[in-house]
Amino acid sequence: MSGRLLILCWHNVTPTWFFPGPRGAHTRGLASQVRALQRFCTPVDLEQALDDLALGKPLPPRAVALTFDDGYRDNLDSAIPLLEALGVPATYFLVSGLLDGETAPWWELLGWAFARSKERTVNWRGQSLRGGATPQRYPDFWPHAEGLKALDRSGREAALEELIEALAPQGPRPDWHRMFLDWDGAREMARRATVGSHTRWHGILSRESHEEQAVELLHAAERIRSELGVPARTLAYPNGGQGDYDAGSIAGAQAAGHDYAVTTENGLNAPPIAPFEVQRLVLDPLDGVTVLRRALRAPGLGGWLRGAPPAS
Ligand SMILES: [Zn+2]
Repeated sequence: MSGRLLILCWHNVTPTWFFPGPRGAHTRGLASQVRALQRFCTPVDLEQALDDLALGKPLPPRAVALTFDDGYRDNLDSAIPLLEALGVPATYFLVSGLLDGETAPWWELLGWAFARSKERTVNWRGQSLRGGATPQRYPDFWPHAEGLKALDRSGREAALEELIEALAPQGPRPDWHRMFLDWDGAREMARRATVGSHTRWHGILSRESHEEQAVELLHAAERIRSELGVPARTLAYPNGGQGDYDAGSIAGAQAAGHDYAVTTENGLNAPPIAPFEVQRLVLDPLDGVTVLRRALRAPGLGGWLRGAPPAS
């Protein structure tokens, strides 16, 4: 028994506009990662494990909790059946504004605009970009993506519309409920797994005032409770790095009734835990088992694997 918890985070498990890949590769990658985890870790339920840690109760050896962010439809269609078959619990963090159809997933909108653009060269904010592929093809794209994250919601929406106009993507905008859950899908998910909140707008919380954060977090928590009939005990901060949330986010999360909030800062959680700064490690299904193994042996997590059987 031990008192340390590793929490892992995935997003989509099939190709999307922003995270493309060969058909089937994401699902195969996730399956191989989870099977590897089962060989040398003990999968546990996130909230139960956090409750136990908070009370100072021991956890099984190398306890690992699985989480998925953003509410991609493939989480219900692919991840849940896979994890159910393997007997592994997971928690899914949902964006109420996407479920309500009142906001677009801005990163996927950007991926779509690049992929559907026929423009050879687009000048945007002093940078030359090329349409007709995905943002991943352009190393110089990422500073701009980070720039979009640095804006508040209205600033980001304005910048994004400006870029979409320049890229002139062909065809109608996607129906996001084909890629992301609607409430019916979320209800099915909540019957089969644990759900949490991933805010209403999926903006970077620290870019907004404390008051706006409190309103957003409460709205998302109330929508989840009223539509799904369950409380969202845990919140996942969008982007989730240090600087993406602040004291206003923590106060807003508490006021919205959450018991815990998870970040994307790497690390193991051990008592005394900071319940609103619970650490997670982000993984990509396409990384497969090799990168997973390397990540688990990285400084800061290495000791966690001590005594584990060799992962084959
Ligand atoms: Zn997210």
